[in-house]
Formats: sequence, structure tokens, C-alpha cells
Amino acid sequence: MTPVRRNYYDDSYQRTLAATVLAVNGDWIELDQTIFYPLGGGQPGDTGVMTGPDGKTHKVLDTRKGDSSEQVKHQLDTQDHGLAPGDPVETAIDWERRYRHMRMHTCMHLLGALIPVPVTGGAVGAEKSRLDFDLGEHQIDKVDLTTRINALIAEAHPVVFGTITEAELDEQPELVRTMSVQPPRGAGDIRTVRVEGVDFQPCGGTHVNNTSEIGAVRVSKIENKGKRNRRVHLVFE
Ligand SMILES: [Zn+2]
Repeated sequence: MTPVRRNYYDDSYQRTLAATVLAVNGDWIELDQTIFYPLGGGQPGDTGVMTGPDGKTHKVLDTRKGDSSEQVKHQLDTQDHGLAPGDPVETAIDWERRYRHMRMHTCMHLLGALIPVPVTGGAVGAEKSRLDFDLGEHQIDKVDLTTRINALIAEAHPVVFGTITEAELDEQPELVRTMSVQPPRGAGDIRTVRVEGVDFQPCGGTHVNNTSEIGAVRVSKIENKGKRNRRVHLVFE
């Protein structure tokens, strides 16, 4: 099984792509390459459209990883799509929704950088997002966080992507300690996302190229989730 070419890693701003059908399983379609991000790392799967060689356009309702994380499958709104392996298709993501996910995901990394304790969970959404922290004795405040996160956004920090090997990580335990999310092990090289001067994390999500693209946000609620844990909710202004 050759891994699908995941174009969203090369250029998360690509909105359309011509591809070839690799496999069909009912309403689920695999392609030789894709710009659709599959559900994972707290970020929803992309939606959009797929047009077959007969000119018919079908909605893509969801995108998921396949049996291996290097496979991506797209769920169409019908099983009656007529697509077969080898067919050329034109694809387009719902860019408005995806771009909001990108802005929110980068924003969640800023939030993680402002609260230097382990992250225990999170979810990125097009309207609102949340991040869970094992806060311990650390104190946080809604208004203070809102001010500081908007300052980081306005400072227009570039966001750069890279990969790091497990061996390189092992040589830098101090680097791993600064990561609010521990890097995955045993799956080869690890993709990294650096917000210049602010944050460095392992992450497989899609991001904006500069924090200024995020726009104004507001920490809307801090929820008590037990003795040590707090859930921080954030919305676009
Ligand atoms: Zn991330």
C-alpha cells in the first residue's frame, strides 16, 4: 500500500486538486493524493466537493484516516457516485471552514504557550475551540489570557514547519519538557510546528503561516474540570 500524498502538508492553503481514485468502499473514496485533512489531533476532518469524470459533483461530508495513518478516505454523500479506481476527479475543500480551523489551531498553540503546564486534551472548531490543562497550582484568568493572546497574534509571528527524528528528540530532553503535548513515538519522523519566538510543538495539523492571520479572539470561559484540570474555551471576536 503506497501512502497517499498529503498535499495539505506541503501547502495548507491549496483549495483545489485534481487526483485519481485509488480505492472505493461504498461511500468512502481513497485518492492518490489529497488536500483534505483527516480528523485527528483535535482538528475536524475537511468537507468539500468531488467531481467525477461524468461531470457529477458530490459532497464530501467528512475525511478520516484509513487503516494506517498514511491512508486518507473521503466520505461522499452517496454510494451511488459511479466512481471506480483509476477515475480522474476534481476536488475542492470547503475553504472557509478549513481556514477557520487553521486560524484556530495556530491560536491553540499560542494558548498552550501562555499556560506552561501539560495539555490533556483539546478540540479545534470553526467557531470555537477548547484546550484542557493539568493546571496544578498555576493561576489563570480569562481577561488576562485574552489580552496576552491577542498581543501574540498582533505581533505577527511567522509559523514554520519541520520534522524531527526520534533520535534527535532523545538527545534533547529539555526540548521535550517544553512541549505541552508529548510527541508520538514509533511512527517515524515527527512533524513539528514552530511559532517563531513563542512555541515549538509536535503537531500534524494545518496552520496559518503567520499569527496575524488569526484575527481577534476572546477567551470566553474557563471551566473547572476537577481539582487540577481546567478547560479553556476560546472564540473568534
Ligand atoms: Zn497542534
